[in-house]
Amino acid sequence: PRRVLVAGNWKMHHDHLETIRTLQELGLRLPEGASSRVEVVVHPPFTDLRSAQTTIEDRGLPLVLGAQHCYHQDAGAFTGEVAPPMLARLGVRYVLVGHSERRRLFGQDDQQVAATLQAIRRHGMVPVLCVGETEEERAAGATEERLAAQLTAALAGLDGEAVSALVVAYEPVWAIGTGQTATPEDAQAACAFIRGRLVEAHGPEAAAVRLLYGGSVTPETTLELLRGRDVDGLLVGGASLRADSFAAIVQAA
Ligand code: 13P
Repeated sequence: PRRVLVAGNWKMHHDHLETIRTLQELGLRLPEGASSRVEVVVHPPFTDLRSAQTTIEDRGLPLVLGAQHCYHQDAGAFTGEVAPPMLARLGVRYVLVGHSERRRLFGQDDQQVAATLQAIRRHGMVPVLCVGETEEERAAGATEERLAAQLTAALAGLDGEAVSALVVAYEPVWAIGTGQTATPEDAQAACAFIRGRLVEAHGPEAAAVRLLYGGSVTPETTLELLRGRDVDGLLVGGASLRADSFAAIVQAA
């Protein structure tokens, strides 16, 4: 049986003390033996990462550390940015790249997404590439075209083996923070399209890439979303902030 990936993107929520408390409570609430079935990742803000790392290590919590963003250079005069090797040193394993909030609010373009993804790989971490169409693109029937363009731009030059080691999250922009979850059928269809497209562009080995759905996931919608055969996990925003609801999602997965 496959091991599901459940990741919590905390966005700009929780200071380091709230993060310690939330992780401790999560440790108490996670179902016994869950980590053999589900890989659980938390992506807290940068300022919380060191506290999260020590809390997870000291308590032996079955949690994996993730980050939400990084710059593509290893060091230099880039005020305000955080470098991939800094994250790697903190035990970060997964890094989100190309989240729609970074693209829309902070002007991250396809070229920056591609460079960042390469930098994350170079430092032995796993990029979680986020792609997804807007409401307008969906209404215009351009969902697949949009997904294909985002994948092409981000993954140019990677062979099938490199692609198989990535995680790609399908996050339709209209579903993020809106309470409007995609139907399980829509999530499955988009993930099937993404997998097919990656195999076509990068070769048969790319089929092993792990695909997540994200956008208003709740404990109630978890089971149905994961029934899709191409949906290998979930990227959860709001419902991952509280230990009780995040643990309920892991339980349902
Ligand atoms: P919500 O689950 O709050 O809709 O956020 C989804 C998301 O953007 C995860 O990266």
